[in-house]
Amino acid sequence: MKTATEYIDSLRRRNLDLWIDGERVDNPVDHHMIRPSIESVAMTYRLAHLDETVRLATAHSELTGTRVNRFTHLFASPDDLVDKVSLQRILGQATGTCFQRCVGMDALNALFIATWEAGPEKHERFVKWLTEVQVSDEMLCGAMTDAKGHRRKRAAEQPDAFLRIVERRADGIVVRGAKLHQTGGANAHQILVLPGGTYREGEEDFALAAAVRADAPGVTMLLGRQPSDKRRGSPDAGNFTFGGQEVVVWFEDVFIPTEHVFLDGDVTAAATVLTAFAGFHRSSYGGCKPGNFDVLTGAVAQLAEDCGVSRHAAVRDKLIEMTHLTETIHGLGLAASHKSTQHVSGVWQVDPLLANVCKQNVTRLPYEITRIAEDLAGGLLATMPGLGSFDHPKLGAIMNNITGGKRRAKLMRLVEYMTYGSGAVPLRIECMHGAGSPQAQRIVIERTADWTGRMASARKLAGLE
Ligand SMILES: Cc1cc2nc3c(=O)[nH]c(=O)nc-3n(C[C@H](O)[C@H](O)[C@H](O)COP(=O)(O)OP(=O)(O)OC[C@H]3O[C@@H](n4cnc5c(N)ncnc54)[C@H](O)[C@@H]3O)c2cc1C
Repeated sequence: MKTATEYIDSLRRRNLDLWIDGERVDNPVDHHMIRPSIESVAMTYRLAHLDETVRLATAHSELTGTRVNRFTHLFASPDDLVDKVSLQRILGQATGTCFQRCVGMDALNALFIATWEAGPEKHERFVKWLTEVQVSDEMLCGAMTDAKGHRRKRAAEQPDAFLRIVERRADGIVVRGAKLHQTGGANAHQILVLPGGTYREGEEDFALAAAVRADAPGVTMLLGRQPSDKRRGSPDAGNFTFGGQEVVVWFEDVFIPTEHVFLDGDVTAAATVLTAFAGFHRSSYGGCKPGNFDVLTGAVAQLAEDCGVSRHAAVRDKLIEMTHLTETIHGLGLAASHKSTQHVSGVWQVDPLLANVCKQNVTRLPYEITRIAEDLAGGLLATMPGLGSFDHPKLGAIMNNITGGKRRAKLMRLVEYMTYGSGAVPLRIECMHGAGSPQAQRIVIERTADWTGRMASARKLAGLE
Protein backbone atom coordinates (compact mmCIF):
# COMPACT_ATOMS: atom_id res chain seq x y z
CA MET A 1 0.00 0.00 0.00
CA LYS A 2 1.23 3.46 -0.88
CA THR A 3 2.18 5.90 1.85
CA ALA A 4 0.91 9.49 1.63
CA THR A 5 4.32 10.62 0.40
CA GLU A 6 4.47 7.89 -2.24
CA TYR A 7 1.00 8.90 -3.43
CA ILE A 8 2.01 12.56 -3.81
CA ASP A 9 5.28 11.63 -5.53
CA SER A 10 3.43 9.34 -7.94
CA LEU A 11 1.27 12.27 -9.06
CA ARG A 12 4.41 14.08 -10.22
CA ARG A 13 5.05 11.34 -12.78
CA ARG A 14 1.81 12.06 -14.66
CA ASN A 15 1.73 14.35 -17.66
CA LEU A 16 -1.64 15.90 -16.92
CA ASP A 17 -3.30 18.26 -19.38
CA LEU A 18 -4.90 20.47 -16.72
CA TRP A 19 -6.15 24.04 -17.16
CA ILE A 20 -7.23 26.83 -14.81
CA ASP A 21 -8.98 29.82 -16.36
CA GLY A 22 -7.40 29.23 -19.76
CA GLU A 23 -3.87 28.64 -18.45
CA ARG A 24 -2.17 25.26 -18.52
CA VAL A 25 -0.89 24.08 -15.14
CA ASP A 26 2.66 22.75 -15.46
CA ASN A 27 3.01 21.54 -11.88
CA PRO A 28 -0.37 20.64 -10.37
CA VAL A 29 1.16 19.01 -7.28
CA ASP A 30 2.66 22.25 -5.99
CA HIS A 31 -0.03 24.61 -7.28
CA HIS A 32 -1.50 26.54 -4.33
CA MET A 33 -5.07 26.09 -5.55
CA ILE A 34 -4.66 22.33 -6.03
CA ARG A 35 -2.26 21.15 -3.34
CA PRO A 36 -4.83 21.29 -0.47
CA SER A 37 -7.07 18.89 -2.39
CA ILE A 38 -4.10 16.53 -2.89
CA GLU A 39 -3.45 16.66 0.87
CA SER A 40 -7.06 15.56 1.46
CA VAL A 41 -6.63 12.49 -0.76
CA ALA A 42 -3.24 11.80 0.83
CA MET A 43 -5.02 11.39 4.18
CA THR A 44 -6.69 8.22 2.81
CA TYR A 45 -3.17 6.84 2.28
CA ARG A 46 -1.82 8.17 5.58
CA LEU A 47 -4.49 6.50 7.73
CA ALA A 48 -3.67 3.11 6.19
CA HIS A 49 -0.28 3.27 7.92
CA LEU A 50 -1.29 4.55 11.36
CA ASP A 51 -1.75 2.04 14.19
CA GLU A 52 -4.97 3.63 15.40
CA THR A 53 -6.66 3.61 11.98
CA VAL A 54 -5.08 0.72 10.08
CA ARG A 55 -7.96 -1.67 10.84
CA LEU A 56 -10.57 0.68 9.39
CA ALA A 57 -8.44 2.10 6.58
CA THR A 58 -7.39 -1.29 5.16
CA ALA A 59 -9.09 -4.63 4.54
CA HIS A 60 -8.18 -8.17 3.51
CA SER A 61 -8.60 -8.70 -0.23
CA GLU A 62 -9.63 -12.08 -1.62
CA LEU A 63 -8.11 -11.00 -4.94
CA THR A 64 -4.56 -10.34 -3.76
CA GLY A 65 -4.55 -12.38 -0.55
CA THR A 66 -3.15 -9.32 1.26
CA ARG A 67 -4.45 -6.24 3.06
CA VAL A 68 -5.28 -3.42 0.68
CA ASN A 69 -6.36 0.18 1.10
CA ARG A 70 -10.12 0.22 1.81
CA PHE A 71 -10.64 2.60 -1.08
CA THR A 72 -9.74 -0.19 -3.54
CA HIS A 73 -11.62 -2.91 -1.64
CA LEU A 74 -14.74 -4.92 -2.51
CA PHE A 75 -17.47 -4.88 0.14
CA ALA A 76 -17.19 -8.45 1.41
CA SER A 77 -19.57 -8.27 4.41
CA PRO A 78 -22.00 -5.94 6.20
CA ASP A 79 -19.13 -5.12 8.58
CA ASP A 80 -17.10 -3.91 5.60
CA LEU A 81 -19.85 -1.42 4.72
CA VAL A 82 -20.11 -0.28 8.33
CA ASP A 83 -16.32 0.13 8.50
CA LYS A 84 -16.43 2.16 5.31
CA VAL A 85 -18.88 4.66 6.85
CA SER A 86 -16.87 4.78 10.09
CA LEU A 87 -13.65 5.45 8.18
CA GLN A 88 -15.35 8.16 6.12
CA ARG A 89 -16.39 9.92 9.32
CA ILE A 90 -12.81 9.89 10.61
CA LEU A 91 -11.54 11.22 7.29
CA GLY A 92 -14.24 13.91 7.30
CA GLN A 93 -13.05 14.99 10.74
CA ALA A 94 -9.37 14.88 9.76
CA THR A 95 -9.75 17.00 6.62
CA GLY A 96 -12.91 19.09 7.19
CA THR A 97 -13.70 18.66 3.51
CA CYS A 98 -14.08 16.09 0.73
CA PHE A 99 -11.23 13.56 0.51
CA GLN A 100 -12.30 12.56 -3.01
CA ARG A 101 -11.70 8.83 -3.01
CA CYS A 102 -15.23 7.52 -2.28
CA VAL A 103 -16.63 7.81 -5.81
CA GLY A 104 -13.94 5.47 -7.14
CA MET A 105 -14.46 2.95 -4.33
CA ASP A 106 -18.24 2.90 -4.73
CA ALA A 107 -17.89 2.75 -8.52
CA LEU A 108 -15.56 -0.25 -8.54
CA ASN A 109 -18.00 -2.16 -6.33
CA ALA A 110 -20.88 -1.26 -8.66
CA LEU A 111 -18.82 -2.38 -11.65
CA PHE A 112 -17.95 -5.68 -9.99
CA ILE A 113 -21.69 -6.39 -9.77
CA ALA A 114 -22.53 -5.09 -13.25
CA THR A 115 -19.72 -6.95 -15.02
CA TRP A 116 -20.71 -10.13 -13.18
CA GLU A 117 -24.16 -9.69 -14.71
CA ALA A 118 -22.63 -8.88 -18.12
CA GLY A 119 -20.89 -12.28 -18.29
CA PRO A 120 -17.59 -14.02 -17.49
CA GLU A 121 -15.45 -12.36 -20.16
CA LYS A 122 -16.20 -8.81 -19.02
CA HIS A 123 -16.09 -9.80 -15.36
CA GLU A 124 -12.68 -11.50 -15.59
CA ARG A 125 -11.32 -8.50 -17.46
CA PHE A 126 -12.60 -6.18 -14.72
CA VAL A 127 -11.29 -8.38 -11.90
CA LYS A 128 -7.82 -8.50 -13.51
CA TRP A 129 -7.75 -4.71 -13.71
CA LEU A 130 -9.07 -4.33 -10.16
CA THR A 131 -6.41 -6.69 -8.82
CA GLU A 132 -3.75 -4.47 -10.41
CA VAL A 133 -5.38 -1.39 -8.86
CA GLN A 134 -5.36 -3.01 -5.42
CA VAL A 135 -1.66 -3.81 -5.77
CA SER A 136 -0.67 -0.39 -7.14
CA ASP A 137 -3.09 1.37 -4.72
CA GLU A 138 -4.01 3.94 -7.33
CA MET A 139 -6.47 6.78 -6.81
CA LEU A 140 -9.56 6.46 -9.02
CA CYS A 141 -12.10 9.13 -9.82
CA GLY A 142 -15.55 7.97 -10.88
CA ALA A 143 -16.79 9.61 -14.08
CA MET A 144 -20.54 9.16 -14.35
CA THR A 145 -22.20 12.53 -14.95
CA ASP A 146 -22.54 13.72 -18.56
CA ALA A 147 -23.34 17.27 -19.67
CA LYS A 148 -26.79 15.92 -20.69
CA GLY A 149 -27.93 18.99 -22.66
CA HIS A 150 -31.71 19.29 -22.87
CA ARG A 151 -32.95 17.09 -20.04
CA ARG A 152 -36.03 15.81 -21.87
CA LYS A 153 -34.14 14.68 -24.97
CA ARG A 154 -32.61 11.20 -25.26
CA ALA A 155 -28.85 10.77 -25.61
CA ALA A 156 -29.28 9.58 -29.20
CA GLU A 157 -30.98 12.90 -30.08
CA GLN A 158 -28.04 14.98 -28.74
CA PRO A 159 -24.95 12.73 -28.75
CA ASP A 160 -22.54 15.62 -28.19
CA ALA A 161 -23.97 16.07 -24.67
CA PHE A 162 -22.82 12.56 -23.67
CA LEU A 163 -19.55 10.66 -23.56
CA ARG A 164 -19.84 8.01 -26.25
CA ILE A 165 -18.02 5.45 -28.34
CA VAL A 166 -17.19 6.95 -31.74
CA GLU A 167 -15.16 4.05 -33.10
CA ARG A 168 -14.75 0.33 -32.39
CA ARG A 169 -11.39 -1.16 -33.38
CA ALA A 170 -10.06 -4.70 -33.14
CA ASP A 171 -7.93 -3.74 -30.14
CA GLY A 172 -10.18 -1.25 -28.35
CA ILE A 173 -12.58 1.68 -28.59
CA VAL A 174 -12.35 5.42 -29.18
CA VAL A 175 -14.48 7.74 -27.03
CA ARG A 176 -15.44 11.39 -27.27
CA GLY A 177 -17.32 13.81 -25.02
CA ALA A 178 -17.24 15.22 -21.49
CA LYS A 179 -17.78 14.10 -17.93
CA LEU A 180 -18.64 16.90 -15.49
CA HIS A 181 -18.11 17.52 -11.77
CA GLN A 182 -15.27 14.98 -11.43
CA THR A 183 -14.37 14.93 -7.77
CA GLY A 184 -10.60 14.64 -7.39
CA GLY A 185 -10.12 14.18 -11.15
CA ALA A 186 -6.81 16.05 -11.24
CA ASN A 187 -5.56 14.04 -8.24
CA ALA A 188 -6.35 10.66 -9.75
CA HIS A 189 -4.16 8.11 -11.51
CA GLN A 190 -7.11 6.65 -13.41
CA ILE A 191 -10.58 7.74 -14.47
CA LEU A 192 -13.19 5.04 -14.04
CA VAL A 193 -15.70 5.92 -16.76
CA LEU A 194 -19.27 4.87 -15.99
CA PRO A 195 -22.56 5.14 -17.88
CA GLY A 196 -24.29 8.40 -16.95
CA GLY A 197 -27.90 7.34 -17.54
CA THR A 198 -30.19 4.50 -18.51
CA TYR A 199 -30.10 3.66 -22.18
CA ARG A 200 -32.24 1.60 -24.53
CA GLU A 201 -31.77 -0.26 -27.78
CA GLY A 202 -30.15 2.06 -30.33
CA GLU A 203 -28.18 3.87 -27.60
CA GLU A 204 -25.45 1.25 -27.13
CA ASP A 205 -22.65 3.74 -27.84
CA PHE A 206 -23.42 5.48 -24.53
CA ALA A 207 -23.61 2.28 -22.44
CA LEU A 208 -19.92 2.36 -21.64
CA ALA A 209 -17.67 1.58 -18.67
CA ALA A 210 -13.88 1.66 -18.88
CA ALA A 211 -10.67 2.70 -17.16
CA VAL A 212 -8.61 5.53 -18.65
CA ARG A 213 -5.27 6.91 -17.39
CA ALA A 214 -5.75 10.48 -16.15
CA ASP A 215 -2.99 11.61 -18.50
CA ALA A 216 -3.98 9.48 -21.52
CA PRO A 217 -3.55 11.26 -24.87
CA GLY A 218 -6.71 13.24 -25.60
CA VAL A 219 -7.77 13.69 -21.96
CA THR A 220 -8.05 17.37 -20.95
CA MET A 221 -9.13 18.62 -17.52
CA LEU A 222 -10.55 22.03 -16.60
CA LEU A 223 -10.40 22.84 -12.89
CA GLY A 224 -13.74 23.86 -11.37
CA ARG A 225 -13.52 27.18 -9.52
CA GLN A 226 -14.62 27.30 -5.89
CA PRO A 227 -15.45 30.39 -3.78
CA SER A 228 -12.30 32.03 -2.35
CA ASP A 229 -10.09 29.33 -3.87
CA LYS A 230 -7.33 31.88 -4.54
CA ARG A 231 -7.05 32.34 -0.77
CA ARG A 232 -5.59 28.86 -0.47
CA GLY A 233 -2.13 29.05 1.04
CA SER A 234 -2.84 32.54 2.46
CA PRO A 235 -3.66 33.51 6.10
CA ASP A 236 -7.34 33.71 5.09
CA ALA A 237 -7.55 30.13 3.76
CA GLY A 238 -9.79 29.04 6.64
CA ASN A 239 -8.84 25.39 6.29
CA PHE A 240 -5.05 25.63 6.25
CA THR A 241 -4.08 22.24 4.92
CA PHE A 242 -6.99 20.64 3.10
CA GLY A 243 -9.41 21.34 0.27
CA GLY A 244 -11.74 19.70 -2.22
CA GLN A 245 -11.67 19.56 -6.00
CA GLU A 246 -13.86 19.01 -9.04
CA VAL A 247 -12.82 19.07 -12.69
CA VAL A 248 -14.46 18.79 -16.08
CA VAL A 249 -12.87 15.97 -18.05
CA TRP A 250 -12.89 16.30 -21.83
CA PHE A 251 -12.20 13.18 -23.91
CA GLU A 252 -11.01 14.11 -27.42
CA ASP A 253 -11.06 10.82 -29.35
CA VAL A 254 -9.39 8.89 -26.55
CA PHE A 255 -8.33 5.33 -27.37
CA ILE A 256 -9.09 2.73 -24.68
CA PRO A 257 -7.54 -0.73 -25.15
CA THR A 258 -9.92 -3.69 -24.90
CA GLU A 259 -8.44 -4.90 -21.59
CA HIS A 260 -9.69 -1.71 -19.95
CA VAL A 261 -13.19 -1.75 -21.49
CA PHE A 262 -15.61 -3.29 -18.99
CA LEU A 263 -18.98 -2.55 -20.60
CA ASP A 264 -19.58 -1.79 -24.26
CA GLY A 265 -23.16 -1.54 -25.46
CA ASP A 266 -24.77 -3.65 -22.73
CA VAL A 267 -27.67 -1.38 -21.75
CA THR A 268 -28.94 -3.77 -19.05
CA ALA A 269 -25.60 -4.00 -17.25
CA ALA A 270 -25.20 -0.22 -17.64
CA ALA A 271 -28.46 0.27 -15.72
CA THR A 272 -27.13 -2.03 -13.00
CA VAL A 273 -24.08 0.23 -12.58
CA LEU A 274 -26.38 3.18 -11.96
CA THR A 275 -28.56 1.57 -9.30
CA ALA A 276 -25.69 -0.20 -7.52
CA PHE A 277 -23.52 2.92 -7.49
CA ALA A 278 -26.41 5.11 -6.29
CA GLY A 279 -26.98 2.86 -3.26
CA PHE A 280 -23.31 2.71 -2.28
CA HIS A 281 -22.65 6.38 -2.80
CA ARG A 282 -25.81 7.69 -1.15
CA SER A 283 -24.91 5.82 2.04
CA SER A 284 -21.30 7.08 1.83
CA TYR A 285 -22.68 10.52 2.62
CA GLY A 286 -23.63 9.10 6.02
CA GLY A 287 -19.91 8.97 6.81
CA CYS A 288 -18.01 11.89 5.29
CA LYS A 289 -20.51 14.69 5.90
CA PRO A 290 -21.04 13.92 9.61
CA GLY A 291 -17.24 14.03 9.96
CA ASN A 292 -17.18 17.47 8.33
CA PHE A 293 -20.03 18.67 10.55
CA ASP A 294 -18.19 17.47 13.65
CA VAL A 295 -15.52 20.01 12.71
CA LEU A 296 -18.04 22.79 12.07
CA THR A 297 -19.86 22.09 15.34
CA GLY A 298 -16.53 22.04 17.16
CA ALA A 299 -15.54 25.37 15.62
CA VAL A 300 -18.70 27.21 16.70
CA ALA A 301 -18.66 25.49 20.12
CA GLN A 302 -15.11 26.77 20.61
CA LEU A 303 -16.08 30.26 19.44
CA ALA A 304 -19.00 30.26 21.88
CA GLU A 305 -16.72 29.17 24.71
CA ASP A 306 -14.06 31.74 23.87
CA CYS A 307 -16.52 34.63 23.85
CA GLY A 308 -18.32 33.55 27.00
CA VAL A 309 -21.73 32.44 25.74
CA SER A 310 -21.24 28.68 25.82
CA ARG A 311 -23.16 28.10 29.07
CA HIS A 312 -26.30 29.85 27.87
CA ALA A 313 -29.14 27.37 27.44
CA ALA A 314 -30.06 28.75 24.01
CA VAL A 315 -26.49 28.28 22.76
CA ARG A 316 -26.28 24.76 24.17
CA ASP A 317 -29.57 23.96 22.48
CA LYS A 318 -28.23 25.10 19.11
CA LEU A 319 -25.14 22.91 19.53
CA ILE A 320 -27.40 20.03 20.53
CA GLU A 321 -29.44 20.56 17.38
CA MET A 322 -26.31 20.54 15.17
CA THR A 323 -25.28 17.27 16.81
CA HIS A 324 -28.74 15.76 16.52
CA LEU A 325 -28.87 16.52 12.79
CA THR A 326 -25.32 15.23 12.24
CA GLU A 327 -26.04 11.95 14.03
CA THR A 328 -29.31 11.53 12.09
CA ILE A 329 -27.31 11.46 8.86
CA HIS A 330 -24.66 9.16 10.31
CA GLY A 331 -27.24 6.80 11.78
CA LEU A 332 -28.86 6.37 8.37
CA GLY A 333 -25.51 5.65 6.71
CA LEU A 334 -24.75 3.01 9.33
CA ALA A 335 -28.26 1.55 9.20
CA ALA A 336 -28.13 1.16 5.41
CA SER A 337 -24.82 -0.70 5.85
CA HIS A 338 -26.03 -2.94 8.69
CA LYS A 339 -29.08 -3.95 6.67
CA SER A 340 -27.05 -4.88 3.59
CA THR A 341 -27.68 -8.02 1.54
CA GLN A 342 -25.32 -10.10 -0.59
CA HIS A 343 -25.45 -9.88 -4.38
CA VAL A 344 -24.85 -13.19 -6.20
CA SER A 345 -21.47 -11.87 -7.33
CA GLY A 346 -20.40 -11.89 -3.66
CA VAL A 347 -20.40 -8.13 -3.06
CA TRP A 348 -22.65 -6.82 -0.25
CA GLN A 349 -25.11 -4.09 -1.17
CA VAL A 350 -26.56 -1.49 1.20
CA ASP A 351 -30.27 -1.35 1.94
CA PRO A 352 -31.50 0.86 -0.93
CA LEU A 353 -34.37 2.48 0.96
CA LEU A 354 -32.23 3.52 3.92
CA ALA A 355 -29.36 4.65 1.65
CA ASN A 356 -31.73 6.90 -0.28
CA VAL A 357 -33.37 8.24 2.88
CA CYS A 358 -29.84 8.97 4.14
CA LYS A 359 -28.96 11.01 1.04
CA GLN A 360 -32.37 12.72 1.01
CA ASN A 361 -31.62 14.00 4.51
CA VAL A 362 -28.19 15.09 3.31
CA THR A 363 -29.89 17.36 0.75
CA ARG A 364 -31.62 19.19 3.64
CA LEU A 365 -30.03 18.91 7.08
CA PRO A 366 -26.64 20.47 6.14
CA TYR A 367 -28.46 23.69 5.30
CA GLU A 368 -29.91 23.79 8.82
CA ILE A 369 -26.55 22.84 10.35
CA THR A 370 -24.76 25.62 8.48
CA ARG A 371 -27.57 28.06 9.31
CA ILE A 372 -27.06 27.42 13.02
CA ALA A 373 -23.28 27.71 12.61
CA GLU A 374 -23.70 31.11 10.95
CA ASP A 375 -26.02 32.14 13.78
CA LEU A 376 -23.55 31.13 16.50
CA ALA A 377 -20.48 32.60 14.78
CA GLY A 378 -21.84 36.16 14.71
CA GLY A 379 -21.51 38.86 12.08
CA LEU A 380 -17.72 38.98 12.13
CA LEU A 381 -18.00 35.81 10.05
CA ALA A 382 -18.84 38.00 7.07
CA THR A 383 -17.04 41.26 7.84
CA MET A 384 -13.65 40.36 9.31
CA PRO A 385 -10.61 42.04 7.69
CA GLY A 386 -7.80 39.90 6.31
CA LEU A 387 -5.76 37.99 8.87
CA GLY A 388 -2.55 39.34 7.34
CA SER A 389 -3.35 42.58 9.24
CA PHE A 390 -2.39 40.87 12.51
CA ASP A 391 1.27 41.15 11.51
CA HIS A 392 1.10 44.91 10.84
CA PRO A 393 2.53 47.08 13.69
CA LYS A 394 -0.49 49.37 13.81
CA LEU A 395 -3.30 47.22 12.41
CA GLY A 396 -2.34 44.19 14.52
CA ALA A 397 -3.57 45.96 17.68
CA ILE A 398 -6.85 46.84 15.96
CA MET A 399 -7.29 43.23 14.81
CA ASN A 400 -6.66 41.94 18.32
CA ASN A 401 -9.18 44.44 19.67
CA ILE A 402 -12.00 43.59 17.25
CA THR A 403 -11.54 39.81 17.08
CA GLY A 404 -10.33 39.01 20.57
CA GLY A 405 -7.15 37.56 19.08
CA LYS A 406 -5.81 35.36 16.31
CA ARG A 407 -7.32 32.20 17.74
CA ARG A 408 -10.89 33.47 17.41
CA ALA A 409 -10.15 35.00 14.00
CA LYS A 410 -8.79 31.73 12.64
CA LEU A 411 -11.74 29.73 13.92
CA MET A 412 -14.04 32.31 12.35
CA ARG A 413 -12.27 31.86 9.00
CA LEU A 414 -12.70 28.10 9.30
CA VAL A 415 -16.44 28.56 9.80
CA GLU A 416 -16.51 30.93 6.81
CA TYR A 417 -14.63 28.34 4.72
CA MET A 418 -17.10 25.60 5.64
CA THR A 419 -20.34 27.56 5.32
CA TYR A 420 -19.84 29.73 2.26
CA GLY A 421 -16.16 29.61 1.31
CA SER A 422 -14.58 26.92 -0.83
CA GLY A 423 -15.56 24.27 1.74
CA ALA A 424 -19.22 25.00 0.98
CA VAL A 425 -18.82 23.08 -2.29
CA PRO A 426 -18.67 19.73 -0.46
CA LEU A 427 -20.73 20.88 2.54
CA ARG A 428 -23.68 22.35 0.68
CA ILE A 429 -23.88 21.96 -3.10
CA GLU A 430 -22.37 18.49 -3.14
CA CYS A 431 -24.81 17.56 -0.36
CA MET A 432 -27.60 18.71 -2.66
CA HIS A 433 -26.51 17.19 -5.99
CA GLY A 434 -23.70 14.68 -5.39
CA ALA A 435 -24.87 11.07 -6.01
CA GLY A 436 -27.99 12.57 -7.57
CA SER A 437 -30.26 15.55 -6.91
CA PRO A 438 -33.06 15.15 -4.31
CA GLN A 439 -35.63 13.97 -6.84
CA ALA A 440 -33.44 11.00 -7.77
CA GLN A 441 -33.71 9.69 -4.20
CA ARG A 442 -37.46 10.24 -4.07
CA ILE A 443 -37.85 8.10 -7.18
CA VAL A 444 -35.98 5.22 -5.49
CA ILE A 445 -37.89 5.71 -2.21
CA GLU A 446 -41.15 5.49 -4.16
CA ARG A 447 -40.00 2.32 -5.94
CA THR A 448 -38.49 0.62 -2.90
CA ALA A 449 -40.93 1.24 -0.04
CA ASP A 450 -43.24 -1.68 0.68
CA TRP A 451 -46.56 0.02 -0.05
CA THR A 452 -48.49 -3.25 -0.16
CA GLY A 453 -47.23 -4.31 3.27
CA ARG A 454 -47.93 -0.89 4.75
CA MET A 455 -51.49 -0.86 3.47
CA ALA A 456 -52.07 -4.45 4.62
CA SER A 457 -50.94 -3.53 8.17
CA ALA A 458 -53.35 -0.60 8.20
CA ARG A 459 -56.27 -2.67 6.87
CA LYS A 460 -55.64 -5.36 9.46
CA LEU A 461 -55.52 -2.96 12.41
CA ALA A 462 -58.58 -1.10 11.17
CA GLY A 463 -60.49 -4.38 11.34
CA LEU A 464 -60.94 -4.59 7.58
CA GLU A 465 -59.39 -8.07 7.23
C1 LIG B 1 -19.62 18.96 -5.70
C2 LIG B 1 -20.09 17.90 -6.64
C3 LIG B 1 -19.34 16.76 -6.81
C4 LIG B 1 -19.73 15.78 -7.72
N1 LIG B 1 -18.91 14.69 -7.94
C5 LIG B 1 -19.20 13.85 -8.95
C6 LIG B 1 -18.29 12.82 -9.31
O1 LIG B 1 -17.24 12.65 -8.70
N2 LIG B 1 -18.59 12.02 -10.37
C7 LIG B 1 -19.74 12.19 -11.08
O2 LIG B 1 -19.95 11.44 -12.03
N3 LIG B 1 -20.63 13.16 -10.77
C8 LIG B 1 -20.39 13.99 -9.73
N4 LIG B 1 -21.28 14.98 -9.40
C9 LIG B 1 -22.47 15.14 -10.24
C10 LIG B 1 -23.80 14.85 -9.58
O3 LIG B 1 -24.03 13.47 -9.53
C11 LIG B 1 -24.84 15.60 -10.40
O4 LIG B 1 -24.66 16.99 -10.11
C12 LIG B 1 -26.25 15.18 -10.12
O5 LIG B 1 -26.47 13.87 -10.60
C13 LIG B 1 -27.27 16.13 -10.77
O6 LIG B 1 -27.02 16.28 -12.12
P1 LIG B 1 -26.87 17.74 -12.73
O7 LIG B 1 -25.85 18.48 -11.96
O8 LIG B 1 -26.66 17.58 -14.19
O9 LIG B 1 -28.26 18.43 -12.42
P2 LIG B 1 -29.45 18.72 -13.40
O10 LIG B 1 -29.78 17.50 -14.18
O11 LIG B 1 -29.15 19.95 -14.16
O12 LIG B 1 -30.63 18.97 -12.37
C14 LIG B 1 -31.08 20.28 -12.00
C15 LIG B 1 -32.49 20.13 -11.47
O13 LIG B 1 -33.34 19.63 -12.50
C16 LIG B 1 -34.04 18.48 -12.03
N5 LIG B 1 -34.19 17.53 -13.13
C17 LIG B 1 -33.27 17.17 -14.05
N6 LIG B 1 -33.78 16.25 -14.88
C18 LIG B 1 -35.04 16.01 -14.45
C19 LIG B 1 -36.08 15.16 -14.90
N7 LIG B 1 -35.92 14.36 -15.96
N8 LIG B 1 -37.23 15.16 -14.20
C20 LIG B 1 -37.42 15.96 -13.12
N9 LIG B 1 -36.46 16.80 -12.68
C21 LIG B 1 -35.30 16.82 -13.33
C22 LIG B 1 -33.15 17.89 -10.95
O14 LIG B 1 -33.88 17.07 -10.05
C23 LIG B 1 -32.60 19.15 -10.29
O15 LIG B 1 -33.55 19.63 -9.37
C24 LIG B 1 -20.94 15.94 -8.45
C25 LIG B 1 -21.73 17.07 -8.25
C26 LIG B 1 -21.32 18.06 -7.36
C27 LIG B 1 -22.17 19.28 -7.19
